[in-house]
Amino acid sequence: MQRIRGYKYRAYPNKKQKEFFEKTFGCCRFVYNYYLEQKQRLWREWRDTQSYIQMSKDLSSVLKRKREWLKEVDSIALQQSLRHLDRAYDNFFKKRGGYPKFKSKRYKQSYRTMNINANISIDGDSITLPKAGRVKIVNTRDFDGRIISATVSRTSSGRYYISLQVEEEYEIFPNDGGSIGLDAGLKSLYTTSDSDIYPNPKTLSLHEKRMKRLQRSLSRKKKGSKNSEKARLRLAKEHEKVSDIRNDIQHKITHKLASENQVVCVEDLDVKGMMKDHRLAKHISDASWSELCRKLEYKIADHGGILIKVPRAYASSQICSCCGRKESKLKDLRIRSWICPSCGAGHDRDVNAAKNILEKGLEMLAS
Ligand SMILES: [Zn+2]
Repeated sequence: MQRIRGYKYRAYPNKKQKEFFEKTFGCCRFVYNYYLEQKQRLWREWRDTQSYIQMSKDLSSVLKRKREWLKEVDSIALQQSLRHLDRAYDNFFKKRGGYPKFKSKRYKQSYRTMNINANISIDGDSITLPKAGRVKIVNTRDFDGRIISATVSRTSSGRYYISLQVEEEYEIFPNDGGSIGLDAGLKSLYTTSDSDIYPNPKTLSLHEKRMKRLQRSLSRKKKGSKNSEKARLRLAKEHEKVSDIRNDIQHKITHKLASENQVVCVEDLDVKGMMKDHRLAKHISDASWSELCRKLEYKIADHGGILIKVPRAYASSQICSCCGRKESKLKDLRIRSWICPSCGAGHDRDVNAAKNILEKGLEMLAS
């Protein structure tokens, strides 16, 4: 069978390549913002819009003549920037995302380029990119397939990465045939229908605490000052450490879940609700849950299993998994354990929820 899979590598560009990347980030941002502004103006003044093809024509025949420096960077990357804008609008109209925002140079920078006529390749410890040449990487994962595209990114602490999108043949690994339900927790990573509770590892909460402290320290510094820049960098580094640890754990547990089970049922994330919720802890846990589910999805597919997403609206924590009685007072999150008044079963809140998610998922699978 064939699939498309991403491979991400830490990159160590030389000085010239760094300059080239920065220039390309800047030009892609410029093109994105330029056409976003143009689209807004067109709509404001004429109630009109511009398609990807129109923007693309305008870019090569008008804008590139006015702004000669756009010719110095990867032209495919500039086209991709327009695709990106087009998709952002599409997502907005289909209510999958907010209104497209202007790109700022303060945060993570990236550009994407396509593999046309084998102009992107990987060879041992380097990746060759259009106009940038051979960029040194740490080759952590080999693959055997066709490269579709490459995305170059720089984090706010100054790390570079190159992600390759690869089309490859793959074989399905076996699994142990189990079925399991998972409940996402605020305090724990997740709880299973087999009554296993996976707490957040101590190192993670330690670094998360430090991150919060650094965040407070940054907000006290004068904006734009040298000290604020230092604090921003320190926060960005801590942030990366946290996501490194989290990634590592997620890879391990998703691998375990995928190799043990044929069916894994999870609570689906309500993306709209997530955007409305501004509590930081909730936001972090939702983001890490959706990332966990993303990893689970492709690993389960690798093992020939099925991931079932149970709608979040389903009141999994308010229903007794033994007799089906609904208890609305369980909406109160402080109640961690309870005894069902109708059948007398004793429940841990999260285990009970995970059991209900499994049952609901199997029901969805059957119909
Ligand atoms: Zn009951």
